[in-house]
Amino acid sequence: MKKFAAKRLAGAMLAAALLWAPSFGTVDAAMPDKTITAETERVLSSLPMMLGYPMNEDIKLEGFYKWYIKSGLSKLAMNNAGSPYDKPHGAYQMMKLEREVMDFFAPFYGFGADEAWGLVTNGGTDGNNHGIYFGAKSLQSQTGQLPVVYVSEESHYSNLRLADLQNLEVRLIKCDKWGDMIPEDFEEKLDPERPALVVYSMGTTFKGGIDNQAALNKVLEKVKPVAVYRHVDAALFGGYLPFTEHKDMVDRRVQPFDSIAISGHKFFGVDSPCGLFFTTKETLEKQKGYNPGYLAADMPMISCSRSTLNPMKFYWIMKEFGEDGFREQSASIMENAKYLKARMDEMGWPAWLRESSNTVFFKQPSEHIMHKYTLAPEFDERFGGKLAHVVVMQHCDRKLLDAFLKDLAAEAKK
Ligand SMILES: *Cc1c(COP(=O)(O)O)cnc(C)c1O
Repeated sequence: MKKFAAKRLAGAMLAAALLWAPSFGTVDAAMPDKTITAETERVLSSLPMMLGYPMNEDIKLEGFYKWYIKSGLSKLAMNNAGSPYDKPHGAYQMMKLEREVMDFFAPFYGFGADEAWGLVTNGGTDGNNHGIYFGAKSLQSQTGQLPVVYVSEESHYSNLRLADLQNLEVRLIKCDKWGDMIPEDFEEKLDPERPALVVYSMGTTFKGGIDNQAALNKVLEKVKPVAVYRHVDAALFGGYLPFTEHKDMVDRRVQPFDSIAISGHKFFGVDSPCGLFFTTKETLEKQKGYNPGYLAADMPMISCSRSTLNPMKFYWIMKEFGEDGFREQSASIMENAKYLKARMDEMGWPAWLRESSNTVFFKQPSEHIMHKYTLAPEFDERFGGKLAHVVVMQHCDRKLLDAFLKDLAAEAKK
C-alpha cells in the first residue's frame, strides 16, 4: 500500500514536472493587435535619426532574447530581491550573474577587490538615490547631523528631487559657462559646521560639464566641514570614460569619492532602464539594517523586488563585448564627436565640445532640423542664446552625422 502511494506520488510529481509551465489564456504573441502594430511602425519609422539624447540605438541583444525564450526562463517570474553580495535566497533569482557584473565593473571605477558593494539599479536616478540616501545616513551616523547637499546648478534634476525627497537642505553651486561647478562659489557656500554631501557631476546633461573634483576637494580640505561624503553622478560619461585616456576622472583611487552611479541604458546598451551603483563596504556598514524575517537577509537597497532581466542583459553585454569591445565603442564615439565638431567648424556653425565629452553643443538650428533629429533645446546667453546638442552614441556613425551636417549646411548658406 505504502509502496503504491509512493509510486503514485512519484508519478504525479513527474506529471507535474512535465506540465510545470502552464499556458493560460489565448493571446497569441505572434498576432499583435492594431494598436501595437501602429505603435511599432511609428517607432521604427523614426529610426535611425535620433541624435539629441544619450541613447545607444545600436542594441545587441537579439541573441539574448532568442536564448531567453529557448532556455525556458521566459515562462518564469524571477526576482533579484536582496543584495548580490549575500548568499542568494531561493531559486528564482540570478544573483550570481548580478554579482559577476558588479565584480567585472568595480575595478574600472577604482574599487579594490573586497572594497566594493553595490547593485544593478533601475537607472541613473536610482543610483543617485542610493548615493544621496547612503551618503546622508553615513554622515548622520558619524556626526548625529543630517548633511547639506552641495550640487551644481547644471547637474541632473534628479539630484534635486532626491534631496527634496529626504528633506535635505540643498545649496546650488554656480557653474562656469562649460557647466563645471565654480570652486569659489562652492567655498562661499560650504558650511564648516555641518556635514557636507557633495554630488559631483561627471557629464552634465546638456553641455557635458565635468566638475573638477581635484579643485573642489581642495576647497573641502581648506574649509574642513565636520564630515564629507562624495557621490559621483556619472550616468552617461561613467559608461565610456573608464575605457578612454580620461579614465582617472571616474577612478576613486585618483578621485576619492564614496559612491558612483552609472546608467546601463545609455553607453552600455541595455535596452531597458537600469544602471550600476557602487559604494564601499565601509559606507554600507554605516547604514541602518533592515532584516525582514521572511526574506532571511539584510535588505540594504531601497527597492525590495528588483529586476532579474537587467542584470542578465548586463551580463550578456559584458561577456559579448568585454573590456576591448567597450574600449572600441568609446574610441568610436569620441572620434565621431570630434569629427562632428570639426565639420561644424569648417561650416562656420558655432559649436563646442569638451576634451573628454561625447556631447557637441551648438547654435540652435531650425525647428525642422530639431524635430527631424530629435534634438534637445537649451538657452545660454554666454554662448549666444538658443542652443541644441548632439550626444554622439554608438549608432551616430559617419553616415548619420553626414546626413545631419548636409541639412545643417543647407541652412548655414541661407
Ligand atoms: C541620464 C542622467 C541621469 C538620470 O538617469 P536615468 O537613468 O534616466 O534615471 C542622471 N544624471 C545624469 C548626469 C544623466 O545623464
